[in-house]
Amino acid sequence: MEVSLKRAAEILAKANNIIVTGHIYPDGDSLGSILALSEALASFNKKVQMYIDDDIPLVYHFLKGAENVQKPEGKVQADLLVVLDASDDERIGKVKSITDAPILNIDHHISNIKFADYWYLDTKAAATGEIIMALLNIMHAKITPDIAAALYTAIATDCGFFRYANTTANTMTQAARLIEHGAKPNIIAETLETKPLNTILALKEVLDSLEFYDDGKVATITLLPELIEATSTTEGFINYPRNIEGVEVAVMFKVVEEGSVRISMRSKEVDVSKIALQFGGGGHKRAAGCTMPGDIKAVKDQLLSAIHRHVNSGQMRFEQ
Ligand code: AMP
Ligand code: MN
Ligand code: MN
Repeated sequence: MEVSLKRAAEILAKANNIIVTGHIYPDGDSLGSILALSEALASFNKKVQMYIDDDIPLVYHFLKGAENVQKPEGKVQADLLVVLDASDDERIGKVKSITDAPILNIDHHISNIKFADYWYLDTKAAATGEIIMALLNIMHAKITPDIAAALYTAIATDCGFFRYANTTANTMTQAARLIEHGAKPNIIAETLETKPLNTILALKEVLDSLEFYDDGKVATITLLPELIEATSTTEGFINYPRNIEGVEVAVMFKVVEEGSVRISMRSKEVDVSKIALQFGGGGHKRAAGCTMPGDIKAVKDQLLSAIHRHVNSGQMRFEQ
């Protein structure tokens, strides 16, 4: 059932024992939203447990409470499972099976499949963190400096630090409020931008893998398992093909293991969420992803021909 944010706050108020989760391969938005909502719920004396079916990337360990996020195992007692920043229950991995509690999903992905018992979806929000900010306001929750840092991270990472097309006046207004509540933009930006040397060294090889298709409108990078092993993160790599003059769609192929390729797409105009959906993934118009089975050559052929149709048809373009 679709619910208003006010109704979502009431559902949260009624529950006492709450599990909060987000998508696998956690990013700043999913993790920041989980940490912020969980801290706010705990301040109302709720029992809150945070679960993510994945490791939390080192770069986000500076966020307070990240150390309390658990990996799912066995069954967990709860009144409510809150799923943040995930458009599909497949995206929460094993967390799906640790409880039979009703699900409240709060999300901003256009590809959301409305799988939850209750869902609040705002595809205009730049980040789930922006929605959580409005929710905390309705709940009259105190925005502590830790909540402010978590939500600032959530919002800033999903809108490319206020540069992408999803950045709105509301995005910046909420970010400004978070700064008033103690978020430190310079510290958060510097922490997230600082990369281990292994990542910069891996970047040299990543750039060697650059390929172009469709008269330079499509640019790809490809990371094989060895290279993925060698770097602590691949965050930001997609921006290199994305930022090349004339490139309309950028793709990162990550061969996480033989026979499985994780794909990230970024675009200027083409709706890449539709391409990702075609292959069982999802995302936003200008940033989407999917995981495809098969060897890298076959996967590349399949995905690039789908992109080729979208880049050249003009039909998938959308209004600004
Ligand atoms: P990424 O390229 O991993 O930064 O993801 C870009 C956007 O697409 C994010 O909003 C992701 O949540 C979404 N996304 C990535 N992979 C998938 C997937 N396999 N299924 C659904 N959404 C995805
Ligand atoms: Mn996310
Ligand atoms: Mn998000």
